[in-house]
Amino acid sequence: MNLFLPSEIIKKKRNNEILTDEEINQFISLYAKGELPDYQMSALLMAIYFNGMNESETLALTKSMLHSGVVVDFNHLSQFKVDKHSTGGVGDKTSLILGPIVAAAGVAVPMISGRGLGHTGGTLDKLESIPGFNTQKSLEEFKSLVEKHLICFIGQTKEICPADKKIYALRDVTATIESLPLICASIMSKKLAEGIDGLVLDVKFGSGAFMKTAEQATELAQNLMKIAQGYGKKVTALITNMNQPLGAFAGNSLEVLECVEIMQGKSKFNHLGNDLYEDTRELSLWLSAHMFLLAGKTKDLQSAYELAKEMLDSGRALAKFKELCQIHGGNLDQLPMPSQKRVITAEENGFISEMNTEKIGVAGILIQAGRAVVTDVINPVAGIEFHLKIGDQVKVGEPIFTIHGDTHQDLLPAVTMLENSYKVKTTEVKKTELILKTLMGV
Ligand code: URA
Repeated sequence: MNLFLPSEIIKKKRNNEILTDEEINQFISLYAKGELPDYQMSALLMAIYFNGMNESETLALTKSMLHSGVVVDFNHLSQFKVDKHSTGGVGDKTSLILGPIVAAAGVAVPMISGRGLGHTGGTLDKLESIPGFNTQKSLEEFKSLVEKHLICFIGQTKEICPADKKIYALRDVTATIESLPLICASIMSKKLAEGIDGLVLDVKFGSGAFMKTAEQATELAQNLMKIAQGYGKKVTALITNMNQPLGAFAGNSLEVLECVEIMQGKSKFNHLGNDLYEDTRELSLWLSAHMFLLAGKTKDLQSAYELAKEMLDSGRALAKFKELCQIHGGNLDQLPMPSQKRVITAEENGFISEMNTEKIGVAGILIQAGRAVVTDVINPVAGIEFHLKIGDQVKVGEPIFTIHGDTHQDLLPAVTMLENSYKVKTTEVKKTELILKTLMGV
């Protein structure tokens, strides 16, 4: 074995040379074990940030992060195992609907999810707004619940990708988050640890997304797909619009309400007669359809979509969601709801032309619907309701947003931020397309 000199590896990447699999693996495994200092890891991260990594280096990085911890083994389970990963947005709650849709049709959905951070929400926070819902299960429990119920949602445990946990925390404080190979290895190591056969990626672009343009989102999707394929996984990516929030609500218990109502077959019409649940429902159905297609449940996408719709319309997805709540100890009947609200109304006539979705997400943080730092405590009932979408006509005095919370005082911090988060034009504005394109793995 070669003598391992961390400074030589840092120098190599600094000089834009290609690292070998062994060099990457040694560096990552020593860091994960606490045998390499933060300053050397930080230096390598910055060198990667500036000089990037090629496909084989990114695969090696993913592999060493994945194997820094446990990889769940579901090989004995005959069902296809599939998950969905979203790059995050505002009001993005589709996991709560598609998980039950897919599991209700006999496909296993082992989901290791995250918490909300910054302007985007997290699946675990949404589920934990249901009183008693426990996402802190051991990997053994996770495995046995997936085997028995075909679905389980847990948070990242200390056994899953410990290297990613350490490196992500370091990236956060060294300005090295926005690096394509680092993002790809971080996301994919955690997904591959779930023991899945297939993955559907919902890569978002727009004002509320990590990637601001469709081109950046497509590049991220292609890179994530290459890693999944490098591991022999079936993968599809949808490039979807986050230039406006998804659905009618952002905020934890309000988002659960939206999902339950959709699974109950309900709609939520605004004063223009438009169903504000439509985009959440449609995106959940199409993502489910792609999960079915990967699982080989149907021959083509249209029949996969129809199968997803059947699971939703028949109430089987709702029954599965109730079963999910029950196995996690959650009491859906006690879902808390906010008692106070404040409506933000339009100040001019015209058409909604723009929404600064990141600002809307930050307004959510200001009322404790989300967190600015990991230690922030969330108020499960706090949230924002959206009455209009881009392209909708609006008249002075009509509602644009409603802020929800426990006390009037709690609602105030979001008012100015929301008032400044949208634009109105006097001429007609085109509606946005929800799913821009789909990239199918081969
Ligand atoms: N999500 C992750 O898990 N890791 C990243 O690097 C970025 C987003």
